Amino acid sequence: MRRVSDNVYAEFYYWGCNPGYLVTDDGVVMIDTPQQPIDAVRWRERLLEHGPIRYLINTEPHTDHISGNAYFPGVEVVGQVGLQQRYQQAVPQLTSPERVERMQETDPDSVWLLNHPSYPPNPPARTFDASLTLTLGRHTIECLHLPGHTAPQTAVWLPEEGVLFTGDNIFCRCKTFIQEGDPWQWLAALQRIAAIDAAVIVPGHGEPCDRGYVQEQAQIIEAWVGAVEDFVRRGMTEEEALAQPAPAVDPYPIGQRLFAASARVDALNVGNLYRRIVARRDAPRPA
Ligand SMILES: [Zn+2]
Repeated sequence: MRRVSDNVYAEFYYWGCNPGYLVTDDGVVMIDTPQQPIDAVRWRERLLEHGPIRYLINTEPHTDHISGNAYFPGVEVVGQVGLQQRYQQAVPQLTSPERVERMQETDPDSVWLLNHPSYPPNPPARTFDASLTLTLGRHTIECLHLPGHTAPQTAVWLPEEGVLFTGDNIFCRCKTFIQEGDPWQWLAALQRIAAIDAAVIVPGHGEPCDRGYVQEQAQIIEAWVGAVEDFVRRGMTEEEALAQPAPAVDPYPIGQRLFAASARVDALNVGNLYRRIVARRDAPRPA
């Protein structure tokens, strides 16, 4: 756990996303959750030392960001309106016998907390469309819908602290996942992120950074798009594109104990980008 400003803390070395929190005069605001149940309950204990937890804001629907919601019972979850359905879609996977079985191997300390009656699913209860501003004590908390890595992607801007949580619109010096995102919306989101006067950016994965990294993140996405556009231009089917050696366009290793999934992420990136590039090429243009 690291203090990134006067009143903001975040964790960068959990298995899963980087969760964080803001301490105000009137309680604590959480941004995302620890993925592993035992980490989530330990994290909650830490936070409660600072006061009651008022809000939990989810930046996106991927399970490493939302699976810990359950361990904050009674805390109001805030998310972009599109997150609600995605959370409900994820519940069967989060509570499946297969997850329990996998966790017996990967994280035995967490097994007893899975599907525990005290910790039922905790879906987003307060939603917003383009933005939502919360105030707590002396602090402003701005939730901004910035679609890119996922459709309901949300950034959380804390102006009094100069801290911006971007969720997975930024992977700082670790492999970028483009498994479902719209790369052109993502590039537009990065422009908006670069325009925010943040001293510290807490990315969804990887170390904290500043606005200097945003351009590098954009270049990685542009390079991915360029490589897959080349497959399309050469007339390949999606299957043929997936059979090519993975484009060597991302200089960074995969983080978060996911090394075994690295090649699979490359394939997901290629498949998603291939389908989006073809759909965009074939879309009717306005006259
Ligand atoms: Zn994600």
